[in-house]
Amino acid sequence: MSKPWARAALLALGLLILPGQAGAAKVVLDPGHGGSDPGAVGVNGLYEKTVNFDITTRVRELLVKQGYEVVLSRETDSYMSLQDRVTFKDSQSADLFVSIHANSYGSPDVRGAMVLYYDDAYPQESYPASEAMKVLTPQSRQLAQEVLDAFVAESGMQNRGLVPSAVYVVRNGTMPSILVETGFLSNAADAALLARDSVRESMARGIASGIAAYLPPGTVFPDLTGHWAREAVLRLKAQGLVEGAAGGRYEPRRVLTRAEWVTLLGRLFDLPQAAAGSGCSAGGAGSSVSGAVYGGGEGCRPEAARGAAAFRDVNAGHWAFAALDKAVKAGVLEGYPDGTLRPDRPVTRAEVASLLQRLSGAAEGQAHPFGDVPAGYWAEGSIAGLRNTGWIDGVSADRFAPEKGMTRAEAAALLDRYTAAAGRSAVPADGR
Ligand SMILES: [Zn+2]
Repeated sequence: MSKPWARAALLALGLLILPGQAGAAKVVLDPGHGGSDPGAVGVNGLYEKTVNFDITTRVRELLVKQGYEVVLSRETDSYMSLQDRVTFKDSQSADLFVSIHANSYGSPDVRGAMVLYYDDAYPQESYPASEAMKVLTPQSRQLAQEVLDAFVAESGMQNRGLVPSAVYVVRNGTMPSILVETGFLSNAADAALLARDSVRESMARGIASGIAAYLPPGTVFPDLTGHWAREAVLRLKAQGLVEGAAGGRYEPRRVLTRAEWVTLLGRLFDLPQAAAGSGCSAGGAGSSVSGAVYGGGEGCRPEAARGAAAFRDVNAGHWAFAALDKAVKAGVLEGYPDGTLRPDRPVTRAEVASLLQRLSGAAEGQAHPFGDVPAGYWAEGSIAGLRNTGWIDGVSADRFAPEKGMTRAEAAALLDRYTAAAGRSAVPADGR
């Protein structure tokens, strides 16, 4: 696994500051086998690795013409382990993965095409899937169906259907993934077809158009395809409230950072300006915990007057410096006792609820069903209050997970409900 924090920090550099960057959808293509591993050997002597590679490069050509960014797991006739293929696809920040193979079977009569994907409804105990692939079952299934339909339509191959499968490259990884079995090299008719250029080209057309049906070129936030928060994110984008990360992705499953959160708030609210020199925010009273993403607390901190520059881990080169500075001066973002602001640290669900409740003017609440929010918990009133408004849910009927990081998808759902309730105009407060 990569180091998630290092990755998050790198990604944060490009976040929310690239308005209008289109970002091509990115596809990883994986020609099966290679090098010392020929894969199946056809009744006509054809090597599977050769067919796979040829069809894969044809798919690449078609996709690139349509504006996709395409990378291949191997560019030469070389051996690559299954884990190396998974490591490679996960290193690419891509939107989907398609492995291309040809089949073989004991009975020479069996022929046709099939598409494999991981389906969490049919788990295999000895071959556990990655957590991401379990969650991505609907997306992988949809991609598999689109590719199978187009493949069969273009190539005329017999349709053997979708196959829920736990093969390595589709049950591991972090993006929708499928494996296309183009035909059976153990069947004389299929093997003859796989030897023909025109048939390989039609197969490639089918795979490429199936990919395009699942993820049209130029899709905004391609990583939200099939995601529950997609509509909410697109509504926020239309209001200028959210933008993509580098590469045009939204990264819905990543935890929101402090810098991202105050950037969003700065767009939503006219943050109060601290009185010059006082260092005190104009915000309301309330308890304060060190480092919290909220404030207006009992202590008027000197750094509130100096702004974000008061902290040793923030300089004017930070992508969110202006928003951080505004939030610190408004008293809604506080630092830590060691003099850091930690802008790239995640915000918790309690911190988000607390600040949104205050800034929105929603009333605090009392009753709530969350067993993990004890009586007297510092953000209890905010959590109960926002739940009363219907803007926020628990992670289940009786759990709020207050100390858990809030994901970017959860934040979008929350802000979408808030903006709908507040009847905000399409023009954000800062005029962007
Ligand atoms: Zn194979």
